[in-house]
Amino acid sequence: MSILITGGAGYIGSHTVLYFRDQGEDVIVLDNLEKGHEQALLGTTFYKGSIQDEALLSQIFKKHTIEAVIHFAASSLVGESVAKPLDYYENNVLGTQKLVKQMINHDVKQIVFSSTAATYGEPKNIPIQETDPTNPTSPYGETKLAIEKLFQWCDEAYGLKSICLRYFNAAGADPQGRIGEDHTPESHLIPIVLQVALGQRKNVQIFGDDYQTKDGSCVRDYIHVIDLAAAHFLALQKLRQDPKTAIYNLGNGKGFTVKEVIETCRVVTSHPIPTVVSDRRAGDPATLIASAELAASELGWKPNYPELETIVQHAWKWHESNPTGYNKK
Ligand code: UDP
Repeated sequence: MSILITGGAGYIGSHTVLYFRDQGEDVIVLDNLEKGHEQALLGTTFYKGSIQDEALLSQIFKKHTIEAVIHFAASSLVGESVAKPLDYYENNVLGTQKLVKQMINHDVKQIVFSSTAATYGEPKNIPIQETDPTNPTSPYGETKLAIEKLFQWCDEAYGLKSICLRYFNAAGADPQGRIGEDHTPESHLIPIVLQVALGQRKNVQIFGDDYQTKDGSCVRDYIHVIDLAAAHFLALQKLRQDPKTAIYNLGNGKGFTVKEVIETCRVVTSHPIPTVVSDRRAGDPATLIASAELAASELGWKPNYPELETIVQHAWKWHESNPTGYNKK
């Protein structure tokens, strides 16, 4: 039996593929390589294509005995989603509808889904719990929430069992340095700061320092990408033993300000990392911190790399050895 991982060549997907392989699972990847990197797959069985290609999906489900799907393939930039909502509904919602249709057609009834803290929007309570209201402030969050609901209805209708994992801020890289984070253009804080340490940018822009937080910059909950990968594995084990549709937050339960992240990067890289304060970025809530108590109690999930310094060290290890990413070594 194999596990199909869609979007397995992306940042979180590729770390999950590696983690599953390290656990002895047989993995097959489907990725259109729009954002992903084939090099990150380290030779895993791979189909290049879209989740919207129903003929390809059907071919994969016929050729391999697929036990379950881990579903990452999606467009995932908040700002871009505001500019191109129709693309996000097409890639994310319609793409997932086609994937699930083929799963049901081929009697595959278990899925672990890459959801997001963006489903909550501006939080009412900190730390955020799974039972808190969901009011997304972007098409990105809205499409992820729509997919979570699609899964719930498909449980009622077809017995599809899903576990949706709402990630907070994924960061870090494979501790062994085999793979890492490579986005073009880069928009995430830690890789941007490390690009300054590598001399590829002059400074880091701090998007707003007048938030109601301890130093005025935004607070986020950074979680090691391998801890996220491990949560997908535990979610699959849960579906195998006790198949029930569920939603879990994945975070450290601890927040760091943008300025604290930059300071940690200074310590790890020994680079002064100059900063400039610029305007707030549209749609950024002041503080996002997860309560991951449900994932701890029901999945037995506990982050192995909770320290921000360790997360940055692992990211730095990969960036230092691969300063121009995967393609241009
Ligand atoms: N951020 C920043 N400068 C940058 C990139 C990000 O100040 O060049 C801030 C951003 O406003 C947010 C935090 O860093 O408060 C994390 O942003 P990121 O894009 O990494 O993740 P997000 O929280 O949007 O998922």
